Amino acid sequence: MAVVNDLPTPKTNFAINPVLWIEDKKQGLAHTQQELSALVDAVMTGEMSDYQLAAWLMAVCFQGLNDDETYFLTNAFVQSGQVLDLKGMGIEGITVDKHSTGGVGDKTTLVVGPLLAAAGLKVAKLSGRGLGFTGGTIDKLEAFPDFNVQPSEEHFVKQIRDIGIALSSQTKSLAPADGVFYALRDVTGTVDNVSLIAASVMSKKIAAGADIIVLDIKVGCGAFMKTLDEAKVLAALCKNIGERFGRRVETVISAMDTPLGHAVGHTTEILEVVKTLKGEGPKDLEDLCLCLAGMALVAAGHATTLDDANVALKDLIHNGQALYKFKQLVIAQGVHHDIFSDLHTLPQPSRIMMTPSRKGGIVQSIDALQIAKAVKMMGGGRTKKDDVINLGVGVVLRCDVGDRVKEGDVLFDLWADAVNLKAAKEMVIAAIVIGEAPVQPRPLILGTSWGGVR
Ligand code: URA
Repeated sequence: MAVVNDLPTPKTNFAINPVLWIEDKKQGLAHTQQELSALVDAVMTGEMSDYQLAAWLMAVCFQGLNDDETYFLTNAFVQSGQVLDLKGMGIEGITVDKHSTGGVGDKTTLVVGPLLAAAGLKVAKLSGRGLGFTGGTIDKLEAFPDFNVQPSEEHFVKQIRDIGIALSSQTKSLAPADGVFYALRDVTGTVDNVSLIAASVMSKKIAAGADIIVLDIKVGCGAFMKTLDEAKVLAALCKNIGERFGRRVETVISAMDTPLGHAVGHTTEILEVVKTLKGEGPKDLEDLCLCLAGMALVAAGHATTLDDANVALKDLIHNGQALYKFKQLVIAQGVHHDIFSDLHTLPQPSRIMMTPSRKGGIVQSIDALQIAKAVKMMGGGRTKKDDVINLGVGVVLRCDVGDRVKEGDVLFDLWADAVNLKAAKEMVIAAIVIGEAPVQPRPLILGTSWGGVR
């Protein structure tokens, strides 16, 4: 099979010394390329244990990595597997990949991927599982019974050739080290570091081999980047890493104060993806998907302006081709086609509780982080590496920021089993703040690599 793996890999005759690496980082010393390469190797061979890696990750959270260290770590993740040479494998045309830095209710990949494939681009995407309080595309896809999240390389490439799109989690051959670091970061409070996020995101993107990479950098209470300045740093860092690997990277910075769309969870989000691909989804989700997909189309030369791209993309939604591509993707990855005749067979909770407002007024804010925590508390996220997620639980909002509601109006549906039901319900109620002041929600798209940042 044609794969390239010609990026610099310094040969490490280094003594494996996890304690020294932890001590050095604790004191804020910069690692060399050889050290970071040896560290990643040691994690992969088991010579550096989980508890030592967790300590090093925490030291990174306090001391940071400089831009070179971040690039070296990315490269070491990439080198832990192979880099797909999609052209060498017979995939013709421009290949594109998209990634988000993580948010609440963020199901954009499952809309943007099929849209781009329907528009004639080739989508080769490595995705992650839930991380911290955020959801992950791979977990969401597992709501489909038998969805194969780790197709073989042959299957992955053939599927892109045949239908224009394939999704995979890290495999043993594609950025496997990121998978190991990611799973540990998820449960050790070491997610929200700019360099760790950049290395994680970009290693997957480099390994999957696409020519064009579009990144959605999230900012707000439901994202890892809490301020616009941090988001700008992450956007620039990712673009710079991608360009050091010779890839074209475009970025969008988008607000993540309230959940994206109305659904948070796994089954709930899949249902919202289907609606959105039919043109019946929430406006914020559709707008962001059109922006991300539109930038990819323009970057690939398939449209000259974002407006032209959006006209073409809306057509693909309204003529059913985008939804058809999503179905093709799901079926190609192992799911029986009957699933689409009754989506109620996706994992369901024991009850769906319509929850009314206790007072009237204007919805001032909907706290994405609190809603994510409520879903996690009901079993919709992991607290330990091997936890099994309850894919049926979730929240479906029935209001948006700025809406006027009356006492008794349904604010949200709680998709719940018995676990922590009451506490989760109270948490979501508290997350939706109702007051009297008129509200102007902040714009969803705060900037792009084309137009600076508002
Ligand atoms: N998405 C990733 O793939 N990795 C991170 O660290 C955060 C978001």
